[in-house]
Amino acid sequence: MAYVEVAVNAPGGRSSTFIYAHEPDLPIDVGSLVVVPFGNILAQGIVVGRVDRPPDLPIRSIARLLDSEPVLSPARVALGRWIAEHYCCALIDALNLMLPPGVAQRPHTIISLAAGVEPPDGLDEGEQIVLEALRQKRRVELGYLRGLLARRRLARQTERILRRLVSFGLVHRETAIRPAATRPRIETYVRLAVEGVAVPAALAALQRAPRQRAAFERILRAGPGAAIPLVTLRDEGVGDAAIVAALARRGLVSIERREVRRDPLAYRDFPIIPPPQLTPAQEAAFAEIRTALAARAYAPFLLHGITGSGKTEVYLRAIAEALRLGRRAIVLVPEIALTPQTIQRFAGRFPGRLAVLHSRLTAGERFDEWRRIRAGEADVVIGSRSAIFAPVRDLGIIIIDEEHEWSYKQEKTPRYHARDVALKLAELAGLTVVLGSATPSLESAYAAERGRLRVLYLPERIEVALGRASARPAGSAGVRGSAADLTADQARGPRARGLPPVEIVDLRAELRAGNRTIFSTPLRQAIELALSLREQVILFLNRRGDSTFVLCRDCGHVMRCGRCEVPLVYHSDVEDLVCHLCDHREPAPAGCPNCWGSHIRYFGLGTQKLEAETRRAFPRARVLRWDRDSASARGAHEEILRAFVNHEADILVGTQMIAKGLDLPRVTLVGVISADTSLHLPDFRATERTFQLLTQVAGRAGRGPLGGKVIIQTYCPEHYCIQAASAHDYHAFYERELAFRRQHGYPPFSELARLLYVDYGEARVRREAEELARQIRGLIRREALEGIDVIGPAPAFRRKIRGRYRWQILLRGHRLARLLARLSLEPRWTVDVDPITTL
Ligand SMILES: [Zn+2]
Ligand SMILES: [Zn+2]
Repeated sequence: MAYVEVAVNAPGGRSSTFIYAHEPDLPIDVGSLVVVPFGNILAQGIVVGRVDRPPDLPIRSIARLLDSEPVLSPARVALGRWIAEHYCCALIDALNLMLPPGVAQRPHTIISLAAGVEPPDGLDEGEQIVLEALRQKRRVELGYLRGLLARRRLARQTERILRRLVSFGLVHRETAIRPAATRPRIETYVRLAVEGVAVPAALAALQRAPRQRAAFERILRAGPGAAIPLVTLRDEGVGDAAIVAALARRGLVSIERREVRRDPLAYRDFPIIPPPQLTPAQEAAFAEIRTALAARAYAPFLLHGITGSGKTEVYLRAIAEALRLGRRAIVLVPEIALTPQTIQRFAGRFPGRLAVLHSRLTAGERFDEWRRIRAGEADVVIGSRSAIFAPVRDLGIIIIDEEHEWSYKQEKTPRYHARDVALKLAELAGLTVVLGSATPSLESAYAAERGRLRVLYLPERIEVALGRASARPAGSAGVRGSAADLTADQARGPRARGLPPVEIVDLRAELRAGNRTIFSTPLRQAIELALSLREQVILFLNRRGDSTFVLCRDCGHVMRCGRCEVPLVYHSDVEDLVCHLCDHREPAPAGCPNCWGSHIRYFGLGTQKLEAETRRAFPRARVLRWDRDSASARGAHEEILRAFVNHEADILVGTQMIAKGLDLPRVTLVGVISADTSLHLPDFRATERTFQLLTQVAGRAGRGPLGGKVIIQTYCPEHYCIQAASAHDYHAFYERELAFRRQHGYPPFSELARLLYVDYGEARVRREAEELARQIRGLIRREALEGIDVIGPAPAFRRKIRGRYRWQILLRGHRLARLLARLSLEPRWTVDVDPITTL
């Protein structure tokens, strides 16, 4: 017998791995997907290592192998171990990230009603709920019953209730693994099996079977050798499975079953785009990456390129070079950037070799793309966060575009960060990895400063670098001129060139001057100028809806979400009040629900109101809005973008959706309605986030030959975030922000972990949090774990969501894994290592 270590996908098996035996001639290897006996059930498992014969323990045997070849490579298994350790999650959860979509299955528990047993008297409420549900449905999943009981706040008693019902013989419980939720799509095709003189003979023979004859004639029309899908016959109303089967029995047609690929890029044409001329900076960056690719060793780069400097072209060249060396590529882009523009650029350069993976695909499409990638039929995988786990063979390079984006962090267990996973995978497998950004995260910039990433800098916009700069130099007001650039600290490297000038407008001064509208005088004038020149304008506001809160002026009552306690936001398109945390909706009230007064006022500003105000202020302009509400339908993003690109609108109003990577050459003015929206949130990344947003939004201006400018409206014009963003000075921002992080001991100067407890009943939540904080402090004292701070417990900034209270403990310090590994947390705790936010 041979022995292997298996991570088991079953409750109770998550905290450790287990040893199983198998016949040595079974093709079981590291990375194999297997079924194993576990307790008294069968469960899925993944082989994570080979082991020697264990000393005299009873060892059970693997029940069966689920796939003839390993589903994970040894490097992937090693990556899974790292994820489990670093993010403090079960190894099996980390490994399941890498399985084909729908294949990972936990055993689930089925509860069914026993026949002919009379319930005893005195059943309690919970027991009666369960029994009643089973009388209606006979068999249900355990999770369904728990959901029913949760509505009566009895979820915690599910086990007790079931144990009692089983002991009375009223119900059975059994456990099973569900088959994979996705599988290849097989379609039936029909083909002519006769020719020549046999055809008229067949038609004659079918004289008395008119439906078979109609189907046969249709198949005949398709011509000899052509295979028609059965669904086509069915759609045309000339045949079905029974009719075709009858024809096959007569030997007139043959039936085949074939796998059909569900292709997310089907029905789309991608014009082939020849590679453009590189700027000197692009050339230099590409040369370094090329050298690294040839060396086939771990080589991490930070490609710091200002907006419009051509980072994507560097990615494309690097990928082409990897392909030339017989290797393949993974490209991660933020979910929102998976616009047709991005996919078109990659598909146009690598026609037929691209696979796409993101959450808007159907499960079937994702499954088929996954299998295509594993079979080596796609060379370049582009996708959002989870595409880092695509089973690419001979991987050579990983590219992470907009590496600072928050969407790379998964907000459910395992709470991995795709950038850090990519760096680890590159290290384990000896890959080149390129992190690209105009505004690198503090972590990445600091890693570069410390020499852990190599910086490639693109300081100029393409047009400037190639001498095709703006025909109409942007206005002079508010420009931080090039004279200042020349005196800039040379140690910072070359300063950005070709970015649009930014003007800061102090809203306090506007208010003093009596302007109470949302458009400052400079912004209003600039919009009018752009419109008169038939140019396009983007107005950015990072808040959806109309108002930020709704208040009764008689009694001061603020409309709040009953489950989250946050103020509700008025959305005029649906005339509803909407909770932005849980999406609860209710009709806008006619009067105050508290005092029955009628003086309801709507305060604050969101994109819907901005859209209305823009139409009022510029009645001749065509206005388009792009936010989550206006782009909720599938394909809506593409449609809004297409309309704006085709100049079917003059002004685009939107949230951060408009900030990402769009290339809109007719946009000459970007107005930031309020720079302060996210600046004052109590989160250590609030300033960094605001800087990134402002820079990205400003980067939408002046990307064409018309030039452009940016106007930022703010109540805190002297804040270093606003100052640095307006000067396009990443380094100034970086130094100030780094000093702040150092002073307070935040990342990158420490590790951070957030322990969050979420449940109904604030008193209990608080008790649990206090108890754990006490335990942790005791543990730190006893084990002398120096250098770890315990912050809290305290209610989270978002104290209540969907009726459940949220308390948190923050751990800050070095080598937090020492401490985290020793905690045994009950399941309602979530551990978030390297949290992206602490709100
Ligand atoms: Zn009132
Ligand atoms: Zn809510």
